Amino acid sequence: MNDQTLGERLRQRGVSRRGFMKFCAATASMMALPPMMIPKIAQALEQAKRPSVIWLSFQECTGCTESLTRSHAPTIEGLIFDHISLDYHHTLQAAAGDGAEHAREEAMKAHWGEYLLVVDGSIPLGANGDYSAIAGISNLAMLKEVAAGAAAIVSVGTCAAFGGLPMANPNPTGAAAVEDIITDKPIVNVPGCPPIPTVITGVLAHFLTFGALPELDHLKRPKVFFGQNIHDRCYRRPFYERGEFAETFDDEGARKGWCLFKLGCKGPTTYNACATARWNEGTSWPVEAGHGCIGCSEPRFWDAGGFYKPLSAPFNNIGDTILTAGAAGLAVGAAAAVLNRRTKSDAVKNRETITIKDLSKES
Ligand code: SF4
Ligand code: SF4
Repeated sequence: MNDQTLGERLRQRGVSRRGFMKFCAATASMMALPPMMIPKIAQALEQAKRPSVIWLSFQECTGCTESLTRSHAPTIEGLIFDHISLDYHHTLQAAAGDGAEHAREEAMKAHWGEYLLVVDGSIPLGANGDYSAIAGISNLAMLKEVAAGAAAIVSVGTCAAFGGLPMANPNPTGAAAVEDIITDKPIVNVPGCPPIPTVITGVLAHFLTFGALPELDHLKRPKVFFGQNIHDRCYRRPFYERGEFAETFDDEGARKGWCLFKLGCKGPTTYNACATARWNEGTSWPVEAGHGCIGCSEPRFWDAGGFYKPLSAPFNNIGDTILTAGAAGLAVGAAAAVLNRRTKSDAVKNRETITIKDLSKES
């Protein structure tokens, strides 16, 4: 069945040329590509084979899979039946026990060197990897075994991408990210706690269409979805620029929809697509629901200084600065850019201090 091209498969399912082009337009929009790319996508998809996908879940809360099942473009059913061959997924597969493990081994054998490995959850390295095992195989051993035959790896969620909650201080299990362990395969990180469903499917669609991973930033995140920070796309930004801030969650400012910066919003230092892609079929997103961004797509966000604590200077007196300085907007923009750069590089630096060697010392 996997030898069929996607074009052949869709025709077999009765999809017309017009329907196919609509499908290509939806795929382009899912990958945030301009409409002029639609014919190129159509050509690529016509010839594309459904890739085998093996999905491994390690130290996680199943939020990433929950998020994927909320995808509306395409739906999880569409994704599985039309786009990919999901050959192994602990939560979604019908098989259990030996049958499930057999399916994983068969998929690896049949598509060695070609399948896509998706991982959610971090990998415990403490106690020689014994903190978490599936089918009697430690997460560490299973990751290494499956990664060996993968064409590429997608680390879905902040736990797989950066260690996430399990890596939060004091990191009792010695949790590590996929990229801390696997260093010889192309890896794309799709962080978020959980990640936005259309971002997960967009990355899978990009791999299917072009046979390659999308362009990445310095944290291996797809630039198309993580290229801008929340703050730059936030609809509350005009209030920020005017120095109008909610001071508590139920004051007059909060009721008027003012900026949530003083309530701890981490939008200025967080890169994700929430403000544009939004959640629940584009219905809303956390800042629109009245809660500041907690920076869930950044490394070590759990330890980064408190969810409800405002970012430190130069942001603290931002309202006063704006009221008293004529060129405040420009100053704020420059200060924000500096802080963004500093916070990002600090985050990376801090993360780099926890190496596999350090973690194995704990075991
Ligand atoms: S600080 Fe938060 S609420 Fe305020 S404009 Fe920036 S992202 Fe929006
Ligand atoms: S608004 Fe911030 S904390 Fe909320 S989901 Fe988006 S990136 Fe994560």
